[in-house]
Amino acid sequence: MPIQKTGDSLDIEKLKSSVISQIDTRHELSELALRIHSNPELGFHETKASTWLTQYLEENGFSVERGICELPTAFRASYGKGKPVIAILAEYDALPELGHACGHNLICTAAVAAAVASKLVADQFAGTVSVIGTPAEELYAGKAIMVNRGAFNNLDIAMMVHPGTHDTATTRALACQSLEVEFFGKSAHAAARPEAGINALEAMLQSFAAINSLRQHIKSTARIHGIITDGGEAANVVPAHSAGSFIVRAEDDTYLDELKQKVINCFVGAATASGARLEYKWADVRYAPMYNNPALAQLFAQNMQHLGRQVQLASQGQSFGSTDMGNVSQLVPGIQPIVAIAPPEVLSHSPQFASAAASEAGIKGLFDAAKALAMTVVDLIANPEIITRVQEEFRQGK
Ligand SMILES: [Zn+2]
Ligand SMILES: [Zn+2]
Repeated sequence: MPIQKTGDSLDIEKLKSSVISQIDTRHELSELALRIHSNPELGFHETKASTWLTQYLEENGFSVERGICELPTAFRASYGKGKPVIAILAEYDALPELGHACGHNLICTAAVAAAVASKLVADQFAGTVSVIGTPAEELYAGKAIMVNRGAFNNLDIAMMVHPGTHDTATTRALACQSLEVEFFGKSAHAAARPEAGINALEAMLQSFAAINSLRQHIKSTARIHGIITDGGEAANVVPAHSAGSFIVRAEDDTYLDELKQKVINCFVGAATASGARLEYKWADVRYAPMYNNPALAQLFAQNMQHLGRQVQLASQGQSFGSTDMGNVSQLVPGIQPIVAIAPPEVLSHSPQFASAAASEAGIKGLFDAAKALAMTVVDLIANPEIITRVQEEFRQGK
């Protein structure tokens, strides 16, 4: 029967050693990570991955709810009782064409490995360890949808690890929203009657020119990028329709809102100049910026250092994208550390990164990440005062 008590430092060191040796014996974890790697599934279609992960958790004593938040490939698996509730988040979606080029096969395997190893501490102290399976990180911000549907409401802490090229205890991630744009013009013979046409492609090209001009005068951390998905049918027909997909990113929500309006002004200006009619739609979900919890990051870094990895608290470079973990981190104190699985020149979302996610360094990264996550769970469950500090920092930083 679990009891509420605080561990002394000797107990804690012993528990951490047990967690490490237990993860080391679980050879099935590398097999699971490689099996998910060789069966890549796109967002919301991660049927095999979610089945294999939930089976593994069930076999290891977790109670599993599948299809939570009305998302068939989302799940929650829990072990233990009462507070605190510590969640480890699992991503398992792949990228079109590239497969597991973001290494999510390692994220989900590290999550289940860490959770199963953390049973030791949940048995000894009061508390619950959960794995929350979060589909469709890459394309549809699955966690943003799950935030809206209440999946993270009763948590005290949410953690996950992402593979990358540097060991870092925090992630910088921008607020981000995508936009679909269409221009409607009028087709005409491009040589015989050009004066009768309204050129929807030119409206799109002018929009790109206006956005490129705007880019000179935005904050250096903001990003605007897009593609043309329809630019007309034939060179001798004035294009009556054009379409494009764009993404706008900024370091905070306020600046994102400001930038969104400026970007729309570029399209409105191009519509006025060309005479084409503009229609646009912002994506329903938006990625929130990552709100890293310093106390959690510190704990994780110490545990990684214990495993012989040199961990920076924050990334030194200017390289950052967006993640739906940002949305969770705005609601619950959280971290998303990065574990290195490839040298710095390997780019995420590349075929080389996909190979790294199935390499020896990838598997080593998975095992170290799982150990450090489980060791952090030990710190948190055995020391309720640390959780209090984490939560105070979370409130103060808001
Ligand atoms: Zn990615
Ligand atoms: Zn990713």
